[in-house]
Amino acid sequence: MIILVVNAGSSSLKYQLIDMKNENVLAKGLCDRIGLPASLIKHKTFDGRSLEKEIEMPTHRDAIANLLKVLTNDEVGVIKSLDEITAVGHRVVHGGEKFFKSVIIDDEVMKTLEECAELAPLHNPPNITGIKACQQVLPNVKQVAVFDTAFHQTMPKKAYMYALPYEYYEKYKVRKYGFHGTSHKYVSERAALLLGKPIEELKIVTCHLGNGSSVAAVKGGKVVDTSMGFTPLDGLAMGTRCGSIDPAIVTFIMNKEGLTTEQMDTIMNKKSGMLAVSGVSSDFRDLDDAVEQGNERAALALDIFAYQVKKTIGAYACAMGGLDAVVFTAGIGENNSKIRKMICEGLEFLGISIEDEKNLKRGEEIDVSKEGAKVRVLVIPTNEELAIAKETQKLIG
Ligand code: ADP
Repeated sequence: MIILVVNAGSSSLKYQLIDMKNENVLAKGLCDRIGLPASLIKHKTFDGRSLEKEIEMPTHRDAIANLLKVLTNDEVGVIKSLDEITAVGHRVVHGGEKFFKSVIIDDEVMKTLEECAELAPLHNPPNITGIKACQQVLPNVKQVAVFDTAFHQTMPKKAYMYALPYEYYEKYKVRKYGFHGTSHKYVSERAALLLGKPIEELKIVTCHLGNGSSVAAVKGGKVVDTSMGFTPLDGLAMGTRCGSIDPAIVTFIMNKEGLTTEQMDTIMNKKSGMLAVSGVSSDFRDLDDAVEQGNERAALALDIFAYQVKKTIGAYACAMGGLDAVVFTAGIGENNSKIRKMICEGLEFLGISIEDEKNLKRGEEIDVSKEGAKVRVLVIPTNEELAIAKETQKLIG
C-alpha cells in the first residue's frame, strides 16, 4: 500500500510518498511559494535522484497536480501511475473537541473542519485547501485527516479548563487543546516498544523540543496533561514564542506601547522566546555558538528553556503519580545533548540519571540513562509523516 502524506501550509505544501510494505519513503518534497511569483518544487527520491524547478503554481490545486506529475515522470518519478496511490493522509492542525482521533474525510467531516478553522486561523484554512485540492485532483482516492490536537483529547476536564468565565468555553470553546499530538503519540508508543512493556502500564513524559516545543504527560497511553494550550503559544518559552507569561503583562505592554492586538500577537509569537532573551537567534545551534563566545544573554535563554522543561517534567510526574520514562524528540530533543543534560541535571531525586557518553549520541533511538536508573531517559527521533501514514493505513484498512 502506497500512501501520500500531505502537510499544507498557507504558501507551501510538504509531501512524502511512503510504501507501507516496508515503511520506505519513496520520495519527499516541497511545493514552495504557492500563489507567489517564482513558485518552485523541490523533490528527492529514495535512490538519490532530485529535482528543483520553478513551476507556476497559483493555487494549492496546481501544487498537487504538479507534485503528482513529478511522482510519475520519467526522470525523478517513483511510481508508474497514480493508481498506485491508495490514500492520502493530511496533517490538520486543529480538530477542536470534535475530533479525538483520525478520520476518513467525507462531506460531514469537511463541514466540521470548516467550523474548527476559527480556532486555528493561520493553520486550518491552508490544511482545508490542501484537502480540497487533493479531492479535486485524486477524486477516487480516500483522504484521511490526522489532527495535531487529537491525541490530547483524553485530558481530564480539570487539566483542560481555564478558570475564566464558563461562558467563554461554552460560546467559543476556549480551553486547552495541546498540539504536536501526532509526535507525542508516535514517540510514546515507540518508547513502550523500546522498554518492552505495554504502554498501558507506563507513565511517560514526552518532550517535543523544536522551534515549537511542548511536553505531554502520557499515562497508560493517554495524555493527562500537556504544556501547549488554546493555541501553540502556551507553555514553554520557544524559539520565537514567549510561552506562558502572566496574562496581565499583555494589556500592560499594549497600553504602554500603544499596540494593536495584531502587533501584540506578532510580538508574542515571532519576536519573543529565545530570540528575544538572547538577542542573537531563535536557533539553538546559534545560541550554543554564542554561549561558547561568552554571550551571557544566550546562556540565560538556554537556562530559561532547560529550567522550564525541567519543572514541567516534575509537575507531570506529580500529575501522573509517578514516572517511568522521559522521552526527548524533535530538532533540539534529538540533537542537542547539552540541553538534555541541563534538563536532567538535578532530577536524580526523581530517579533520572543520564550517562554522559551515551547522551552525546544524536539523531538515533537510544536509552541514555545510567544503568539501574529508575526512570529511563530515551531519545527517539520523531517521524510525524510515518505516523500520519500509519494512521491513514489503519483507517482505510
Ligand atoms: P520545527 O519545530 O520547525 O519542526 P525542529 O524540530 O527542526 O523545528 O527544531 C529546530 C531546532 O532544532 C533548532 O533550534 C535547531 O537548533 C535544532 N536542531 C535541528 N537539527 C539539528 C541538528 N542536526 N543539530 C543540532 N541542532 C539541531
